[in-house]
Amino acid sequence: MSKRWTTISFLILVYTCYRCTWAQQTQIPEQPTNNLELEAALPEPRAYVPDSQYLDFVYHNHEELTRFLRATSARYPNLTALYSIGKSIQGRELWVLVVSSSPYEHMVGKPDVKYVGNIHGNEPVGRELLLHLIQYLVSSYDTDQYVKWLLDNTRIHIMPSMNPDGFAVSKEGTCDGGQGRYNARGFDLNRNFPDYFKQNNKRGQPETDAVKDWISKIQFVLSGSLHGGALVASYPYDNTPNARICRSSALCAMFQTYSAAPSLTPDDDVFKHLSLVYAKNHAKMSRGVACKSATPAFENGITNGAAWYPLTGGMQDYQYVWYGCMEVTLEISCCKYPPAYELRKYWEDNQLSMIKFLAEAHRGVQGFVFDNNNNPIERASLKIKGRDVGFQTTKHGEFWRILLPGYYKLEVFAEGYSPREIEFVVVEQHPTLLNVTLQPSKQFNMPTIATTTIKTPTTKKPRKLIGFIPKDEDEIIHFPSD
Ligand SMILES: [Zn+2]
Repeated sequence: MSKRWTTISFLILVYTCYRCTWAQQTQIPEQPTNNLELEAALPEPRAYVPDSQYLDFVYHNHEELTRFLRATSARYPNLTALYSIGKSIQGRELWVLVVSSSPYEHMVGKPDVKYVGNIHGNEPVGRELLLHLIQYLVSSYDTDQYVKWLLDNTRIHIMPSMNPDGFAVSKEGTCDGGQGRYNARGFDLNRNFPDYFKQNNKRGQPETDAVKDWISKIQFVLSGSLHGGALVASYPYDNTPNARICRSSALCAMFQTYSAAPSLTPDDDVFKHLSLVYAKNHAKMSRGVACKSATPAFENGITNGAAWYPLTGGMQDYQYVWYGCMEVTLEISCCKYPPAYELRKYWEDNQLSMIKFLAEAHRGVQGFVFDNNNNPIERASLKIKGRDVGFQTTKHGEFWRILLPGYYKLEVFAEGYSPREIEFVVVEQHPTLLNVTLQPSKQFNMPTIATTTIKTPTTKKPRKLIGFIPKDEDEIIHFPSD
């Protein structure tokens, strides 16, 4: 009897140990699928054939836009998820549609990316192109290898309009001017974010507060903000520590255009590259032809934001400095609100750029930070040596950084662990997968990234470069079709 119990106890012990090992193993996040080698071998994305039954080349008001998003999310439940990040002042939903092969949940190890359109209400070409991008992606998934690869490996969040109230009072055919640019309280939303270089005293607006909350919950790796009024990809920084901002004087603006100095980020090579990817895949942008004789021509169709004209409170500087998200401002039409019959042409000009730009999220390094039990470490602070800007891991221990081919060192810090420095190589063909294990440290290690500063010649008191703080899993609300 006692021998039998001994045997049973032994079996229970073996089973328990097996379970305990298994449990530990299941905590290891899934390794990122390295499908990127495939990208180079993939055929170019095919041209989308618009079907007016679903979406025409016309401007859609808020109700029509809402109907399209709801109908699409109902028609493609396995590829889309619709949610709202809040409401505009006049109560319009700030819709976001996720397009991905796993739309309802963050795919561990796979990047979230986004496009935001119509932050200026009277610049609605991007708003309409984003609806066509949605239609293109969902209708091509089964037939286009490139689109399938993109949606299988990326979670794409598309916000067609950040300023639906401004759009509602804008007028088709108006190429210049400010009517509809602002939100319903008269605030320019692209001057309404906290600024890295200067105090921004503008009162936070519901639309910008919603975006701030959104990007604090989802770690976006890459983003494009669509504008009109020029033809150029403009990259951070938009602001500079030493510029005078022109308010109304045309002379000042003209002087500034010719005298503004670039304000470059530690990732200037990457931002230039991302901007060139958009410009070179665009039908015209990289030619760098001026919209009008009085406006600047941009070499290769790209510019540093501050070198064009400095501004305070822009969205792209905020995303990069506070959250490590690489956002580029994409100015896609010389006329801010061109007639609807030109929309098809705008789509044709931008289609390849919009796809290829998002694919850049798969360039550089990505991986996980674990403890020595293979549990992910959340909020580990990371930095690429020599690039004085920090980023952090998600709650799954994931990280991403877009980098061009080369040799790098990754510095990793986490509270309670010994810091590590790891060398790695980035190649052109696929992202480098890098898993980092940190050993516990008896000595308390202050995460030094949190106190990392950018030293700019004219900033007397360097300010903290704060990484993002991921919160709970993003909430997706699914709205049925009406
Ligand atoms: Zn704009």
